[in-house]
This record gives sequence, C-alpha cells and structure tokens, in this order.
Amino acid sequence: MTSDAPDVWDASIPPGGYVCSTCHTPVESEPCPDHQPTAHAAITSGTDQEDNRDQ
Ligand SMILES: [Zn+2]
Repeated sequence: MTSDAPDVWDASIPPGGYVCSTCHTPVESEPCPDHQPTAHAAITSGTDQEDNRDQ
C-alpha cells in the first residue's frame, strides 16, 4: 500500500508555506511528484481520480 506524504507547514520560508514532509519541496503550487504521486497525478492528468471536480 502506498500513500502520499502529508503536507507540513514550513515557516522557514517567509511568510511560510506547505512543503512535502519527506523532502521539503514546496507544494503550494503542486504536490511533490516523488512523495505525493497520487495528488500529483491528479493535477497533471486531471481525469483519473475519484475526487476530481468539474472545471
Ligand atoms: Zn517529496
């Protein structure tokens, strides 16, 4: 079973932002492709997820 790494708040980059909890890549604009593959695939493909919304 795989699951995406959670976002964590990183205040070290003013004014702070969410980063990948594993590699600390900023995830404000898009999820971490390495550790949040489900979420990343959802925004890059946009169609294969159950929770996708109408655009
Ligand atoms: Zn990551």
